[in-house]
Amino acid sequence: MGPKYSFVIPIFNEEATILELYRRLNVVMDQLDGEVELILVNDGSRDRSLALIRDLHAQDSRVCYLSLARNFGHQVAVTAGLNFARGHAVVILDADLQDPPELIPKMVSQWQQGYEVVYAQRTQRHQEGWFKRFTAFVFYRVLRQLADVDIPTDTGDFCLMDRRVVDILNAMPERNRYLRGLRSWIGFRQTAVPFERDPRFAGEVKYTFHKSLGLAINGLVSFSKVPLRLSTYLGLFAAVVAIAMAILVIYWRVFYPKSPLTGYAVIAVAIFFLGAVQLFSIGILGEYIGRIYEEVKNRPLYTLAEVGGFTTEGALNVSGDRGS
Ligand code: UDP
Ligand code: MG
Repeated sequence: MGPKYSFVIPIFNEEATILELYRRLNVVMDQLDGEVELILVNDGSRDRSLALIRDLHAQDSRVCYLSLARNFGHQVAVTAGLNFARGHAVVILDADLQDPPELIPKMVSQWQQGYEVVYAQRTQRHQEGWFKRFTAFVFYRVLRQLADVDIPTDTGDFCLMDRRVVDILNAMPERNRYLRGLRSWIGFRQTAVPFERDPRFAGEVKYTFHKSLGLAINGLVSFSKVPLRLSTYLGLFAAVVAIAMAILVIYWRVFYPKSPLTGYAVIAVAIFFLGAVQLFSIGILGEYIGRIYEEVKNRPLYTLAEVGGFTTEGALNVSGDRGS
C-alpha cells in the first residue's frame, strides 16, 4: 500500500526556509487521515538545500526527494515531482511558505466531498510590491479573456489533485508546462478554496520579473491563438489606413495640381508604423514556432542527478521515455 497523500514541493535555493517548512508540514501531516509522502524536488539549488533535504530524508522516512541535474525551472520541477508521486491525492505547494500548509486539510475535505481538483485562490497578497500585484491582476484577467479554457483568476499552482487527474497530467506529452492551465484543461469537478497569500518566509524571490514574464507569455501562447489573429487584425487595419491615404493623395492631385505633395513626416511615421506591425507579428509567430520546435525536439523534460526514497525503476522510467 502506497501513501494516501503526496506533497510535491519544488526547491530552488531555499536553505533558509526548508526546516521551517518541514516543521509546519509536520503539524499538518499529523492532522490528516492517511500516510503522507513528502516529495522535495531540488531544482539545481546552489546553496545547502540539497544537504538539508538529504538530512531530512535520513531522519524521516516520509521524506523522499528528487534532485534535478540543473535548474530546470519551477514548472518542470513540479512536473518531475508529479511523475513520482504515488498518493491518491497530490498537493503542490511552494517551499517559501507563501502557500500556507495549514490550508491543506481544507483542500482534503473538499476532495473527500468528491472534487477531483481543489485549487487555492488568493483573495489577498501580503507584502508583495504594487507592481507584482498590478501585473498579476491584469495578466490573470487578460488570460481569462483570451484563453480557450477557463483558467480561474488569481490561482497559482497551489492545489490538490486526485490521482486520476495526476495520471492524465503525467500522460500529457507537452514540454511547455503551464500547469495551472493544463489543470483547468483536464476538467473534472474543480473547486476553489480561498486564502490570503502570506509573504515569503525567508530568502529571496526566485521568480525574477524576467521569469514571471516568461511564464505569463507561456500561459498566453499555450492556451490561446488570439495573439496570432492579432497580426491579421493589425494587417487589416494598416490596409484600411493605406487605402484611405491613397484616396486622399489622388484627390489632392486632381483638385490641387499645383501644390506639391508634402509630408515627409507622414511617410516616416507610416514606415515606422508598418515596420513595427511587421516585427511585432513576426515576434508573435516566433513564439508559436519556437514552441513547435521545442515540442518536436522531444527531449526529456528534465534529467535526474539523484533520487532518495523512490525505487530506481521510476528513475529509469523518467530519464528514458516520458515516464508513461
Ligand atoms: N522555484 C524552483 N525553480 C526555480 C524558481 C523557483 O523550483 O527556478 C521554486 C522556489 O523554490 C519556490 C517556488 O518555486 O518553492 C516559487 O518560487 P518563488 O517563491 O520565488 O516565486 P513567487 O512566490 O514569486 O511566485
Ligand atoms: Mg514565493
